[in-house]
Amino acid sequence: MNAAVLHIDRLAKSYGKQAVLRGVSLDLQAGESFGLVGMNGAGKTTLIKCVLDFCAVDGGSINIAGLPHQAPHARKPVAYLPESFMPPYYLSGREFVKYILEVRGQPYSEAATQAMFNALDIEPAALTKLARTYSKGMTQKLGLAACLLSDASLFILDEPMSGLDPKARALVKRQLSALKASGKTLFFSSHVLADVEELCDRMGILHGGELRFIGAPSDCREKFTASTLEDAYLSCIA
Ligand code: ADP
Repeated sequence: MNAAVLHIDRLAKSYGKQAVLRGVSLDLQAGESFGLVGMNGAGKTTLIKCVLDFCAVDGGSINIAGLPHQAPHARKPVAYLPESFMPPYYLSGREFVKYILEVRGQPYSEAATQAMFNALDIEPAALTKLARTYSKGMTQKLGLAACLLSDASLFILDEPMSGLDPKARALVKRQLSALKASGKTLFFSSHVLADVEELCDRMGILHGGELRFIGAPSDCREKFTASTLEDAYLSCIA
């Protein structure tokens, strides 16, 4: 039996003739924080979409908490934030959070929602404002708030910090650290190596359709005899 929260075995995915993932394998243990990095177009979002069964895979297998990823209940422990998060434009912040929690079968808590909005510095008025009036950063924070309020145990976040200003990034990172401290499993993609170094137990460098490196950020620097993770990353994808 595999104890991994997420088990990806020789995953292959092509779009037409373009092979995007060429046999990607990865195991994520409970409570682990994992950062996926790679150039634009490396296949990070494709990998996440495969895990969530948003697209058919061409080879290999994926298990979530021991269940084949195509089983709808396999995704029950998962909270997901897409790369370009767009809430339904006709819902207010409060209605969106309520909607997500209802879908998850979770009770809505006004106190918890207000506390999360406060922690992410989302103005209280956003509870009643329609999502279509939100700024990009506020929209992103609403998506994160809904994820973080869920009782999921595996958080899959596609570039969670993109489009956020420095204060928002710091607040989100604080929440992600708290998530990790509470024993949740975190898998996120990022272009910011400093964030990966700060938040992740392990990282993966996706390049040429393969995970060229999997391990701790410190091991990455050591492996590529680099003093910074950026230099190590450049050597890895050279
Ligand atoms: P990343 O998230 O690392 O930037 P993506 O997974 O979005 O990379 O894309 C990987 C590659 O697959 C890119 O070359 C992209 O153009 C291509 N791709 C992604 N989605 C589709 C799609 N639905 N149809 C065809 N090609 C796609």
